[in-house]
Amino acid sequence: MQTFQYYIDGEFLDGEARFQSIDPATGDVWAEMPEAREADVDRAVNAAEKALYEGPWAKLTATQRGKLLYKLADLVAANAQKLAELETRDTGKIIRETSAQIAYVADYYRYYAGIADKIEGSYLPIDKPDMDVWLRREPIGVVAMVVPWNSQLFLSAVKIGPALAAGCTMVVKASEDGPAPLLEFARLVHEAGFPAGVVNIITGFGPSCGATLGRHPKVAHIAFTGGPETARHIVRNSAENLASTSLELGGKSPFIVFADADLESAANAQVAGIFAATGQSCVAGSRLIVEASVKEKFLSILKRKAEAVRIGSPLDMATEVGPLATKRQQDHVAALVEKSIERGARLVTGGQRPEGAGYYFPPTILDCDFVSSPSLTEEFFGPVLSVVSFETEAEALRLANDTRYGLASGVFTQNLTRAHRLMKGIRAGVVWVNTYRAVSPIAPFGGFGLSGHGREGGLAAALDYTRTKTIWLRTSDDPIPDPFVMR
Ligand code: NAD
Repeated sequence: MQTFQYYIDGEFLDGEARFQSIDPATGDVWAEMPEAREADVDRAVNAAEKALYEGPWAKLTATQRGKLLYKLADLVAANAQKLAELETRDTGKIIRETSAQIAYVADYYRYYAGIADKIEGSYLPIDKPDMDVWLRREPIGVVAMVVPWNSQLFLSAVKIGPALAAGCTMVVKASEDGPAPLLEFARLVHEAGFPAGVVNIITGFGPSCGATLGRHPKVAHIAFTGGPETARHIVRNSAENLASTSLELGGKSPFIVFADADLESAANAQVAGIFAATGQSCVAGSRLIVEASVKEKFLSILKRKAEAVRIGSPLDMATEVGPLATKRQQDHVAALVEKSIERGARLVTGGQRPEGAGYYFPPTILDCDFVSSPSLTEEFFGPVLSVVSFETEAEALRLANDTRYGLASGVFTQNLTRAHRLMKGIRAGVVWVNTYRAVSPIAPFGGFGLSGHGREGGLAAALDYTRTKTIWLRTSDDPIPDPFVMR
């Protein structure tokens, strides 16, 4: 049995309590994790605050911060395979994807390393004589980062990278489901030479550890990724410390296919969009909206591809769909499929959890034309695609926007002017045209509505981890005139 430690104030600690982590491919316990409770959270936040104002971190130049980030990026790249294996073991996400994704995570740290010394203040052309006024950009403060189980190294990199570039200190709470890769990543933070307390990495349960962290009086900002219901707790708790929040939440993303699209290519993108990561992806293109005249043809291509998917051990490089991360998730997906079929959805393929060990669920397609299926509105976070058809472009747009979420979307068409109309009309933070599930450190990412607010990636994300301070300097040596007149 492997054991992990958490990382507070530059030290690796066992924690007073521990909990067991389950390998989703077998259902067996494989590791023991340290559980952070109230006192640990308090210790981590205090360490982060001390590092922010008193430690050597506060005295580093922005260029020196960037150099530390470059070191961290190199260490992530050098250890990508080891981290990938841990993430695969602890969450069931296939090794094919974790190894590619974590190698790319290094590029996120590199991008923000370069940004560290490009965060500038400004000089204001103030409307008063003998006065110089500047805006300084300073780190926003101690940041609490709370992430879900899927892609933890990626979802934390898009927070840790810009926050470090901006000079913040932080407490990162790994998900209680599969924290191993983030706890191991802490060793790279240590090796890179970040001063004690700058990055603290803990894990523990949401309602205890997560909630204590989110409402801690010394936390200035909470960067959260997870479900909308948890986000509501986060926002309610932030009423206590009045911390600002950025929320990256779920989705029910539309994937629109017009009859003029390259159907084979669109089908590959749809498979990537809904079956990759066993559907446990916030941007899952889970609602296929297909032009009626090609619906049957497109569904038959998709069915063939879905049934050819290689399901197996996530540690096998040949596997394309591994298990879901938890039994809870497997039960949720199975129950929602069952409920949708009861409400009239037609099962095209999949739908039944297989016999045997592990939390597997096969690629599943539900034809939901003309029925009011819950699969069209509720997030599965699993490999289940719901299909509806349309006759006109206006109807396609109406169906695409018929959701309270607004994270991602896909449009497949060869018609350029139509593509432009849809790009403007779709209410989602990301529109992919003739592609799907592409991300980059350079491109901002985030949602509308129930999918949250705030953007991760890009330069602006680093600015979001700063606060401005206005400096007024009077340049006249004359005595201050009439003190009862505001100037
Ligand atoms: P979740 O909301 O249950 O948990 C996320 C994190 O919040 C975990 O670390 C958990 O411990 C913590 N948490 C739970 N209750 C808390 C509380 N009361 N206070 C503070 N923290 C608390 O999410 P999940 O089930 O682990 O992940 C799936 C969800 O994440 C899906 O809805 C998915 O769409 C979303 N997601 C969004 C993105 C994005 O970038 N938009 C990316 C990945 C996943």
